Amino acid sequence: GKVLVSGANGFIAVWVVRKLLEAGFSVRGTVRSADKGTHLTKLFAEYGDKFELVVVPDITKEGAFDEAVKGVDAIEHTASPFHFNAEDPAELSVPAIQGTVGILESARKYAPSVKRIVITSSCAAVMHASTEPLDEFDWNDESIQAVAEHGSKATNADKYRNSKTLAERSAWQFLDKHVNEIGWDIATMNPPLVLGPNIHEITSPSALNTSSKYMFDAFTKSGEAARLGGGNWVDVRDLADAHVLALQKELPKYTPLVGVSKEEGRNVNRFIIGGDPFIWQEWLDAAPAGSNYEKGTPGSGTRGRGYVNGKGKEVLGLKYKSVAETARDTLADYEVKGWVP
Ligand code: NDP
Repeated sequence: GKVLVSGANGFIAVWVVRKLLEAGFSVRGTVRSADKGTHLTKLFAEYGDKFELVVVPDITKEGAFDEAVKGVDAIEHTASPFHFNAEDPAELSVPAIQGTVGILESARKYAPSVKRIVITSSCAAVMHASTEPLDEFDWNDESIQAVAEHGSKATNADKYRNSKTLAERSAWQFLDKHVNEIGWDIATMNPPLVLGPNIHEITSPSALNTSSKYMFDAFTKSGEAARLGGGNWVDVRDLADAHVLALQKELPKYTPLVGVSKEEGRNVNRFIIGGDPFIWQEWLDAAPAGSNYEKGTPGSGTRGRGYVNGKGKEVLGLKYKSVAETARDTLADYEVKGWVP
């Protein structure tokens, strides 16, 4: 089958494309301009016409994906801004929501061949203050409230999380509304911070995507690991596997108006992917002895709360990489790129 991947040049998306091609799928990737596809065309040259690109300049425009969706069997929607520099919350929420609803709407109108649409959501759409470990029934209404109250004065984290929560919710609402007139279903992948080697086009460490930049800074800037503390993580390759498995596995059938209670929500195909807690010091401790990376204070710090992530393992059959493996491969990647201090 052929899979459309939106935002194909992004950190996560390039791994999704690679894993799809390796699994035997054909891939049509969208990029915002032709020059953003040059690296991809080279990277996937061995796949010949099994990999193609289309330019979708503005995902917020009505009908932006109308042409791109034609003839595909599935969609992986990853395109969405992830940064902490927005002044106006709408800079993030408009492309997040309109990109999501727009691609669903284009599929509904022009792609009867589509069987499933996988959306890259986030733990940002899940997290909220709670003493219990969070699972797929949790929703981040707190960031929506914070942005509604404080607008451009809301924190950068809340602005981003607001965009992801609203975007994901709009997808489930779309499914509720149209479930009886479409031949496809939806699955959302909800990862925490995504880390690991970079195969997308990156000219210098300063141009790294948000999550990869944290990792590079922790390893190379004095005091940064302690300042950043910790969080929850998943390896980008495991997340890409999840995107592929979500197309290959049979998933529970969706019926409208679910998710109200835990029991009713069983057939919502929302998956927390990864989510184990970490502290940045652990990554420093995993660097080879004798390297010039920051040392921090070996063994210091305590991990925070984890996510309940059994569903991805049970339903999708996912396995997760360890800090040691991901650290090794990321540092090997820095070496290839000439970024070793
Ligand atoms: P990248 O910044 O590497 O990739 C983002 C992709 O989205 C790029 O293709 C980018 O295109 C596109 N994009 C960004 N803003 C817009 C916009 N306004 N209009 C159209 N396209 C846009 O980030 P990631 O790979 O990390 O993120 C991919 C997805 O994963 C996002 O949905 C993000 O929310 C989600 N996610 C990421 C996590 C992480 O830790 N990295 C954690 C949880 C979720 P262009 O290059 O042209 O800007």
